[in-house]
Amino acid sequence: MKRIGVLTSGGDAPGMNAAIRAVVRKAIYHGLEVYGIKYGYQGLIDGNIEKMELGSVGDIIQRGGTKLYSARCEEFKTEEGQMKGIEQLKKHGIEGLIAIGGDGTFMGAKKITEKGYPCIGVPGTIDNDIPGTDFTIGFDTALNTIIDAIDKIRDTATSHERTYVIEVMGRDAGDLALWSGLADGAESILIPESTDQMQEVVDRLKRGHERGKKHSIIIVAEGVGSGVDVAQQLEDETELETRVTVLGHTQRGGSPSAADRVLASRLGAHAVDLLLNGHAGRMVGIQQNLLVDHDIIDILNTEHQVDLDMYRLSKELSI
Ligand code: ATP
Repeated sequence: MKRIGVLTSGGDAPGMNAAIRAVVRKAIYHGLEVYGIKYGYQGLIDGNIEKMELGSVGDIIQRGGTKLYSARCEEFKTEEGQMKGIEQLKKHGIEGLIAIGGDGTFMGAKKITEKGYPCIGVPGTIDNDIPGTDFTIGFDTALNTIIDAIDKIRDTATSHERTYVIEVMGRDAGDLALWSGLADGAESILIPESTDQMQEVVDRLKRGHERGKKHSIIIVAEGVGSGVDVAQQLEDETELETRVTVLGHTQRGGSPSAADRVLASRLGAHAVDLLLNGHAGRMVGIQQNLLVDHDIIDILNTEHQVDLDMYRLSKELSI
């Protein structure tokens, strides 16, 4: 293999730049040429591809977002769109591809691999919703962003003796809600993996109020429903003044944490090693702090599991 490509796709995540940097530097270190594909699979179809040098990835390890931009591309889900992408790989002499993103991105990588071009997936998404890796790139940074916001909200919550509902990202996975809730001592955490918790939340709020608690923080993962609706329901049932904060896209931005930079560097470099060793259709990950890789098909067929022991712990600690 002489020439590889790299792209970022799906939702951006802090640390993607560190992963791009690792791919480019590790590949050049091993004598490969690297081409950056802009705007994910859309850029692949459009031939938005340019050669990257050592200097192309200078001064980006600390930046959020992705230097290669990201996009959602419906056309790439079709056979015709995929063939257009393959034509571009041929035209540029690219023999292997590293795709940084979430499970949708890995579907695309699987399709390209099946067409004879080896692809390696790197998990980059703040949701931490990818099986086969303990952590995805961006999760730690998003978590720290949420915690910073909750700490600030907690100050005003105490001053005004209010209940605060904070809606965090996580359409299908409650990891961000669970980890931020545990890290910030939230009274209650609502995650998509465990519904029907409202009565418990109401009861805990009432108990807390009765023993003189000055404020309460309730974390709601967006997959459970709107934070506004949850707050309304709580106010109706407890008669406690309730406010809502939807953290939204602030969670996706910002300079990556040290943990994310290190994770991204390790995973990006490992992906290059796999391509060089003749592997295809694999996703790199980290489990118990060891670099691992799994068949992308197995990843796509497995459901991510939130840590329910941690969920139970969060309840025990907010008794
Ligand atoms: P996030 O977790 O942030 O949503 P993601 O990678 O899952 O990231 P998606 O929008 O689901 O984000 O997928 C990214 C892109 O991957 C899609 O826009 C599309 O171009 C490609 N893709 C998704 N599904 C398929 C598929 N079945 N076949 C080919 N390509 C796909």
